[in-house]
Amino acid sequence: MRIVYRVLSIILITIKWLSIIIVVLILLLFVGPFWKKWVVYPRMEREVQALKELYQQPEKKIPLPSFQGALHAHTYWSHDSRAVLEEIVPAAKAAKIEFIFLSDHKRDNMDTFPRSYHGMYEGILFEAGTESNNLMVTPLKDTVLDWNLGQDQVIQQVVEEDGMVLYVHTEVSHDWGNPHYQGMEIYNIHTDFKDEGGRLFGFVLNSMVNAGKYRHWAYREIFDEQIEIHALWDSLNQHRKIIGYGAPDVHNNQSIRARFQEDGRVEWVGSNAKTISIRQPGWIEKLLLEEADEAGWVYKAELDTYFHSLHYVQTHIFADSLDSRSLKDHLVQGHAFVSFENLLEAKGFEYAAYGKDGELIGIMGDEIPLREIQQLKVSSPYPVQFDLIKDGDLILSTESKYHFEYTPIGHGNYRITARIPLNGEWVPWIYTNPIYIR
Ligand SMILES: [Zn+2]
Repeated sequence: MRIVYRVLSIILITIKWLSIIIVVLILLLFVGPFWKKWVVYPRMEREVQALKELYQQPEKKIPLPSFQGALHAHTYWSHDSRAVLEEIVPAAKAAKIEFIFLSDHKRDNMDTFPRSYHGMYEGILFEAGTESNNLMVTPLKDTVLDWNLGQDQVIQQVVEEDGMVLYVHTEVSHDWGNPHYQGMEIYNIHTDFKDEGGRLFGFVLNSMVNAGKYRHWAYREIFDEQIEIHALWDSLNQHRKIIGYGAPDVHNNQSIRARFQEDGRVEWVGSNAKTISIRQPGWIEKLLLEEADEAGWVYKAELDTYFHSLHYVQTHIFADSLDSRSLKDHLVQGHAFVSFENLLEAKGFEYAAYGKDGELIGIMGDEIPLREIQQLKVSSPYPVQFDLIKDGDLILSTESKYHFEYTPIGHGNYRITARIPLNGEWVPWIYTNPIYIR
């Protein structure tokens, strides 16, 4: 009997301590997210607010208007997205997006254009494109691309017929020596997400705790500077112009959602926009379902919404007008910069080259003879730290200010990273394309 009691008491003590340890571990898991919710994010919000109050409208020197938008985004046409205009357009408006160059996954090797959304929708320009083999292909005309021809031939054909080919997912290997493609992603949310590895669980937990007011900061927790990709970009530009742009790569497919079908059953949609189940509404539905949103969803637990992705990273293009042809022509010339728009609005930021008489002789992306150039000038609507990068090397970092001027003394590719102070770091806010001094 005694032995039985002893064994029982040992078991009970073990259970008690195990439960205490489990409870403590669970509490510890939430310490970080709640610390962020109550201390870190409110402080970051105040820091950004303080910067916003320092806004000064810069003098506009570049004669072209600029348009901000998304390059690389998905719709229902892709197998891994369910997005329709009712979801995308309000999100784009809230993020102040003016254009979206889509990159839907192709459904067939005979790839027909245009399809999905194409044209103006409530003032937002949509252009059709394909993402395939880590290329984003935008033919800019009614055509059928034959992917059976092979990648090289598709690239050459599209570019020679005045379309655009960009390299997406630049963390994976590409034919970097291909002579036809025009640009590459220097930031992609999905690329950045992939390197989270062991931090992913913490990221999801934090996103749940901070799903409300500070959702944008929780989403930005994935941010890392893409140092290797930028080194590659700089080295490629030593050979020929390869423009850089930022990609939201938005799908809204890291989510659990539900909607009614016409037959009254409920479709539950999970990760990668795949159907989890189609069922008659039962007690779960009674408990969870709410009124349908504009796209018809009656339940949503979402991570990568259109608004949060479109607001996170944008590309600003200096172009003649808001039409696909003009945007493309100027983008492939490098008349563009990348902004992390959810930090601060980047409209008004300029980077240009000036001649001996102080006249503007070129902007980011342009090639300019050294003998003609007097100064490179950058101006920002907020005080920032300007990093001047020449051929991949950081040659100068300023203190925080609105304007920066530099007289180049040698040939090379000069680009700017503008940084703001946030949470104890100087984080990148803007990456410009280089000015190529020949
Ligand atoms: Zn994509």
